[in-house]
Amino acid sequence: MSSASTADDAFLDALQDAFGDSVLLGEAIPESCHSDWTGHAACRPLALVRPASTAEVARLLKLCHEHRRAVVPQGGMTGLAGAAVPSADSVALSLARLTGVESVDRAAATLTVRAGTTLQAVQDAAEEAGFRYPVDFGARGTCQIGGTIATNAGGHAVIRHGMTRDRVLGLEVVLADGRVLDLMNTMIKNNTGYDLKHCFIGAEGTLGVITRAVLRLAPPQGETHTLLCALRDYPAAVSLLHRLRGAGLALEAFEVMWQDFYAMSCDWQGGQPPLAASHPLYVLCEAEGDANRLETALAAALEAGEVEDAVLTSSTAQARELWTIREATAEFPVKLAPINFDISLPIADIGAFVEAAGAALRQRWPGARIVNFGHIGDSNLHLTVDGRSLAEDTPATRHAIEAEIYRLVGERRGSISAEHGIGLLKRDFLHHSATPNVIDAMRMLKCTFDPRGILNPGKLLPADEVDEGAATGVPDMHQHGANEP
Ligand SMILES: Cc1cc2nc3c(=O)[nH]c(=O)nc-3n(C[C@H](O)[C@H](O)[C@H](O)COP(=O)(O)OP(=O)(O)OC[C@H]3O[C@@H](n4cnc5c(N)ncnc54)[C@H](O)[C@@H]3O)c2cc1C
Repeated sequence: MSSASTADDAFLDALQDAFGDSVLLGEAIPESCHSDWTGHAACRPLALVRPASTAEVARLLKLCHEHRRAVVPQGGMTGLAGAAVPSADSVALSLARLTGVESVDRAAATLTVRAGTTLQAVQDAAEEAGFRYPVDFGARGTCQIGGTIATNAGGHAVIRHGMTRDRVLGLEVVLADGRVLDLMNTMIKNNTGYDLKHCFIGAEGTLGVITRAVLRLAPPQGETHTLLCALRDYPAAVSLLHRLRGAGLALEAFEVMWQDFYAMSCDWQGGQPPLAASHPLYVLCEAEGDANRLETALAAALEAGEVEDAVLTSSTAQARELWTIREATAEFPVKLAPINFDISLPIADIGAFVEAAGAALRQRWPGARIVNFGHIGDSNLHLTVDGRSLAEDTPATRHAIEAEIYRLVGERRGSISAEHGIGLLKRDFLHHSATPNVIDAMRMLKCTFDPRGILNPGKLLPADEVDEGAATGVPDMHQHGANEP
């Protein structure tokens, strides 16, 4: 603490007086709070505070607001956009002690939960009550429900159950100045003016701190079948999607793997691949419903030449083996030097985009290795460039590759972030997916909810004075002419 300024000392004294043991300083702050899953821009915050109630979150924000201190909300730190990374002069607000499922309403099929509860704990509580919370992805044991709401997380079952936004009925949010917004609606129908909860879903902690939520549950999953198909080209995958949707089945997943991805993953698994690795494209599909309907649809797709070969299973063990091929992405950080993209494009355009992006990258970086897979039913493509295949894997090269891909996405009116958010990593590319007027409207919203710019400054919105207000004593943002419409 010797390097802290007098202003820091006065603030830290006030913080410790108000929160005692809930405050950690200096080396006592665990490294897990220095950065998110990406490890990007790791930095020790000035302090880490772990409130245990909404009232404590409110008191903390009020204090930070008065002192114009930046506050960075932190959930499970599994984010993939650098959105929870603190700065050296900020207070990291950990939600880790605000845990617990408060209640399950069986009649309404809703669950009320505190924000620091893990996704896994919510799924378990839903299952125990005879339901299912269908948002699901690999970080379930660590990410918190508040983090999934703040990032509007997607995951495996979006094609059927939607994004997190589609599961949230109500929220409790603490505003930057410490006021608590009770938006804990429990009903599906409620048209009473602006639905403010949507402002905070996907806002990456820049507009308020989520402390509680009411979630909508789904019925438990019925009999499910898993299908792996080899296809001749991308249009055949789009036709198959349409065919299966029309077959009276509930599609739980529709994952497309391009040959580069499939061949690499099967090679990593070893042994005989379930289908030869010589086809241009593969679809891994999960569907709930009558097996006969799926078999009939598959027979028609084979007959039409859409599908060249297929494996269909209702056995959990065999399904797991098929999913292992798709889940090779978990090994990317170890086996590749991945430059990952999480983009959205109109479904019909994804095949052409993969070709155009590959050609553009290889023209500038000959020999670049690119692997592609996508949740194409959700219009989501994950394209990965292996940094090891580049002549020089430097930050400048990575930035140039990002600029090229996001430019191509922007040209096609796609989205530079399908599900991981903007955070720090994509902030400077936001203009490819949002027009100047849209970015201005986002700034107006930020000014309204957080006029002093203390909440997660520097994230999501491209840098300007909006981000510089925190911790530097500048006037409230709504007094800045430049931020007015
Ligand atoms: C193995 C793995 C697989 C993943 N798979 C997917 C996937 O399939 N789909 C997907 O969408 N994401 C995926 N992710 C990304 C990540 O898990 C999600 O973004 C998750 O929602 C982040 O939750 P968290 O609690 O870890 O949030 P953090 O990383 O701690 O924070 C993320 C953002 O939310 C803010 N925040 C956190 N809690 C609150 C709160 N209570 N109030 C206000 N703001 C808050 C933070 O300030 C930050 O801006 C994956 C990550 C990993 C590591």
